[in-house]
Formats: sequence, C-alpha cells, structure tokens
Amino acid sequence: MHSYDLIVIGTGPAGEKAAVKAAYFGHKVAIIEKNPVFGGAEVVTGTLPSKTLKETALYFSGKYEKGLFSVGRELDHAATLEDFMYRKNYVTESFSQEIKENLMRHGVDIYLGSARFTGEHTLSITSSSNPPQEIIGRYIIIATGSYPYHPSNIPFDNVRVHDSDSILQIQWLPKSLCIVGAGVIGCEYATIFAAMGTKVYLIHDKSKILPQIDQELAQSLITQMQEEGVEVLFDTTIEHIEIPKEKQDPLQIFLQDGKILKTDMYLFAAGRSGNTAALGCDLLGLKMGKRETLAVNAQYRTNIDHIYAVGDVIGFPSLASTSMDQGRVAVAHIFKTRDLQHLPSYFPYGIYTIPEISMVGMTEEAMIESKIPYCCGQSRYADMARGKIMGAKNGFMKIIFEKDDLIIRGVHIIGPIATEIIHFGLELVESKQTLYDVIGKVFNFPTLHDLYKYAAYDGLSNLTGHKVKP
Ligand SMILES: Cc1cc2nc3c(=O)[nH]c(=O)nc-3n(C[C@H](O)[C@H](O)[C@H](O)COP(=O)(O)OP(=O)(O)OC[C@H]3O[C@@H](n4cnc5c(N)ncnc54)[C@H](O)[C@@H]3O)c2cc1C
Repeated sequence: MHSYDLIVIGTGPAGEKAAVKAAYFGHKVAIIEKNPVFGGAEVVTGTLPSKTLKETALYFSGKYEKGLFSVGRELDHAATLEDFMYRKNYVTESFSQEIKENLMRHGVDIYLGSARFTGEHTLSITSSSNPPQEIIGRYIIIATGSYPYHPSNIPFDNVRVHDSDSILQIQWLPKSLCIVGAGVIGCEYATIFAAMGTKVYLIHDKSKILPQIDQELAQSLITQMQEEGVEVLFDTTIEHIEIPKEKQDPLQIFLQDGKILKTDMYLFAAGRSGNTAALGCDLLGLKMGKRETLAVNAQYRTNIDHIYAVGDVIGFPSLASTSMDQGRVAVAHIFKTRDLQHLPSYFPYGIYTIPEISMVGMTEEAMIESKIPYCCGQSRYADMARGKIMGAKNGFMKIIFEKDDLIIRGVHIIGPIATEIIHFGLELVESKQTLYDVIGKVFNFPTLHDLYKYAAYDGLSNLTGHKVKP
C-alpha cells in the first residue's frame, strides 16, 4: 500500500492548490478525483463556465460596443446556442488540462476514482475502470466541494427544469426562464440570460437580495436588472411545477401567492450541500455542520487532528477564490510552511452579474451594527475620463471610512470590471490606509482607478460639509 505525507480528496480549487503547495514544499502528496475532468465546480459546473457565458452574453448583446462604448456593431448572424456554449467548452477543457499538468509538474500522484475512508489514515479508491485500491496518509485534506440542493417539489429533468449544473448543458436558448433564488448564482444567470434576449423572472422568498453586500449596491443591481427586463418577484416561492408533454407548450409554475408563470425553462439556484455522503465520515465520527458540510476550526482542522477540510465542503463563503486560499492555509498549518506569518485577513467578494459587483471590508449595514462612527464617499463611472470613453452609465464606487481617523473600512463597486479594480481597495482595507493615502497616490490616466480618488474627495466633503474640489 502506498503511503503519503498528505492525501487530498478533490481537484477543485481548494484541493489543487493544497496539493501543489504541499508538493512544492517537498512533501509526498497524492490527490484523488472521481471526475475525469479536473477542476471541480470552478472549472466544470460553476465559476469559469458561468463567467465565460457572461462574457459571451455581453458580446452578443452588443453591450461591450453598443452599451459601453456607444458604437454600433453588426454581427453576421443572430446568436445561436453554439455561439453561447463554444467558448465555455473551450475554457473548461483547456483549464482542466492546465490543472492536471500543474499537479503532474509538481510530482503529485494522481488517483482516479471515488475516495472513501476505511480508517483514520486510510482511503479506498474505487472506479469503474480500475481495480479498487487503498492508500495511507499522514495527513488528509477533504476538498470534495458541494452539489446543488434539490427540493422534493421540483421535478428536475435536466431538459427544461434545471439546477446550476445542468443549465450548462441546455439544448436550446430559452425564450423565457424562471429562476428561483436571487443569491449570487441566481442573479448572475438572470443577467446573463436577460442579455441574451431571454425574458427572465427572478423569484426570491425574501424582500432583499444578496444580504452579504452593501444594500445600496444591491438596490442598484435590482434597478439595473429591471431596466434590462428582468422581473423580480419578492417574498414568494414555488408551490409546484407542471411539465407539459409537448415541448412547444410552456412549463406551468405555480407560486405560493397564487400566481402562475408560464415559461420555456426553469432554473433552481437556491442553495448547495456538502459532498460528504460518499466519504464515510460517520465511520470516523467526523463532526458535521449544516447541509452535509464538515465542521472545522480556524485552521481548517476537523475534530480529528490529522484531517482537514477546505472549500465548499465547509460552507460559507463557498467561493473559488477563498477555497484556493483555504487549501493553501491548511497546508501552511499542517507543515508549518514559511508563509504562516503572512496569511490573509481580508478577502474580496466578486459577483459577476451584468453589471459586476465587488466589495471588500465592511458594508454600511455592518458599520451601523457595530456602532463605529463612519462616513461614506462616492464616485460615478460616468464622471471619470475612462468611464466617459467607455460610455459607462450607472456604475459607482462607495468608500466607507471611520469618522475619527479616516481609516478606510470598506470599498464597494458596482459597474464594469468591478471585480478587477477592487484589488486596490483590498490593499487599502488590509493595510488600514486613510482617505489622504488615496488622494496622495498617482494612477495611470485615464483609468477607472480614478474612482478611488474621487470617492476619497467626496468622503472628505461629506465629512466637513464643504465641497472639496479635486
Ligand atoms: C454557477 C456557479 C458560479 C460560481 N461563480 C463563482 C465566481 O464567480 N467566483 C468564485 O470565486 N466562485 C464561484 N463559484 C463557487 C466556486 O465554484 C466554488 O466555491 C469552488 O469551486 C469550490 O471549490 P472546492 O475545491 O471546494 O470544490 P469543487 O470545486 O466542487 O471541487 C470538488 C472536487 O472534488 C471531487 N470529489 C467529490 N467527492 C469526491 C470523492 N468522494 N472522491 C474523489 N473526488 C471527489 C469532485 O469531483 C470535484 O472535482 C461559483 C459556483 C457556481 C455553482
């Protein structure tokens, strides 16, 4: 039986980065993956496919050139499903290959099959193509990710009634789509399909969306979605769905408030559960969290000392970016690597709706709750030179800072490439910089980083009550 310093289960972002880092620092590492396509939800069913579809939707809707750059563009044909899916398939295949090569380059042993605990240090690997085998690990990291939750009243058929995995395999572009769940995934797909010309109904069982982001930005997103024709129905949910025999007849979606929607397709995007059922966690007595997740401490260690868990399988925040980091941090703790003193304390949050939203640090709601005296500054894309060149209309940045010492506690952006320009905000929040630090910086001109300066000046104006001329 082969034995290793570390066995990682899963080649999603959490598992890949953990395995590669441990191998980089000279440890003997194995990784187990049950899917022949590597990369997990990041590559196969989530992050990259949906982001590629978003770029494709922007291109085909003319929003890059027409909306953003105010220049018309003639396509030589109307968008087809093949157009919509082509680049997604290319990105998935090539990035999956990239992950495999990265693991091999670092000397990580790859086992194909489904992993299951047979003891505290042993895992069995089973697959339809290879005989079962067992390997031993001094340490084990579980990075098995999550799967879409399926409520019993939704008749998923993967043809017209989808979850966030099967929506990536649609056979035609729907004329109309009902999405349940206005979380990150629901909002992203609502704006993507709306941009492709689909009539979208977004159903949410609460009165607010995206509670983790600053509600001024959430409201702006709702307004912009509505302007694009998305109908947002708050405080209601689905009773049941009837799928007609004939494909040309619409689905009948019965809502709790008595309404009946008739749409071409349906997407359920409300919640995910941890991929733990196949692991045999009960054999070891691993402590579980909500929805089949694993409970861990701040170092990502489970209740069994040498077993760690990272990524979606431990629940919030369930992002590819944070999953990668958790994988690396777990390895830093296990092997006491040199970077242990430099672990991150903040992470940015990116939502790839059209328009994008990104944030770091505290929201206005969180500042109010923690009773810290604060003030805000804002700047608009449309007022920036780069924004004018792009023809940007609605985007804005909001900086939240402490009244007493002007230290920046949060940066929030809604608008094109918000997920890119947030990283300067990450640095500001992480290193506790003030409004004056921002004003003192020189940026390339024209760039959208000017948003930071203008928001800082606006913040000073709001603080003093005087309009400060930048
Ligand atoms: C539609 C959608 C859009 C998203 N967009 C973003 C985004 O824009 N930005 C962002 O940061 N995040 C995004 N995410 C979230 C992101 O994809 C996940 O947070 C991330 O992939 C989780 O990584 P992971 O490594 O924990 O798990 P996963 O990526 O799910 O990987 C788990 C791996 O483990 C394997 N596995 C499971 N069980 C076993 C077993 N028993 N044996 C062997 N192998 C096993 C699986 O096959 C899989 O390859 C999105 C998710 C979805 C669904």
